[in-house]
Amino acid sequence: MNRPPAEPSRFCSGGNRNFPCPVLALDFDGVLCDSARETGITGWKAAATLWEDMAEPLPPQSLLESYCRVRPVIETGYEAIAMMRLLKDGEDPEELLDTFPHRLYEAVARSGTDTAGLKRLYGAVRDRWLRENPQEWLSLSPLYPGTSHVLNGLPAGTGCYIVTTKQERFVARLLDHQGVHFDAEHIFGLDRGMTKEAVVRRLMAHHPGDPIHLIEDRLATLKRFLARPDLAAVRLHMACWGYNTQAERREAMGLKIHLLKALSLPEILNTEYHSDR
Ligand SMILES: [Mg+2]
Repeated sequence: MNRPPAEPSRFCSGGNRNFPCPVLALDFDGVLCDSARETGITGWKAAATLWEDMAEPLPPQSLLESYCRVRPVIETGYEAIAMMRLLKDGEDPEELLDTFPHRLYEAVARSGTDTAGLKRLYGAVRDRWLRENPQEWLSLSPLYPGTSHVLNGLPAGTGCYIVTTKQERFVARLLDHQGVHFDAEHIFGLDRGMTKEAVVRRLMAHHPGDPIHLIEDRLATLKRFLARPDLAAVRLHMACWGYNTQAERREAMGLKIHLLKALSLPEILNTEYHSDR
């Protein structure tokens, strides 16, 4: 059964709670922020502390371009350390798009530490970079064009949250740098140790009866939501401008996930939503 499109004009004017208020759960990297180059370089800098043959301060340009190609398979920042190791070894980026989830374990094992250790290392390297050269760090993670305008111009009553695998302090710093006014309490990052599903369940409990829109660029994450009957009411949008491939966008369409072409509130709210999945 399809629901009729939402009517934005009915939402929440003047904080009127007689009508449902839309709630946006926004991923950060690949939805709001184009951070591919920054995550790749942080991965390289972290790898430099583990492997002697990666000692240069920056990766070769061609390797960084390869990293941007394989970015769709990176879920959490620390994985960039493993990806940079594999690319430095001469692995084919096109093959890594398919094989990285398996190769990740092998690369983590070679690092001499574990996943938790690599996460700490990745965060520490990023903290040091941000401390020593904030302008360079901030310039490598621009928000997508128009993002600040959308976030600063949301109608009163719209719930807006960031649900990300990035650490919250980095998200807050980037938004502040771009002049986005965002409640720090509404940023749910890696630090909380919660899955995105758990965060969205909390939002559902906090906003009973309100439509929740998840805007996410990663197909694997969207599919996790599809697999959970208790999250069936969450309206799923794939950010086409983010880190996904054409094949993934095709697959998403087949799964009745809405393909969102731009971060546009009217497009998000007016999408005909299929609840028969
Ligand atoms: Mg993302």
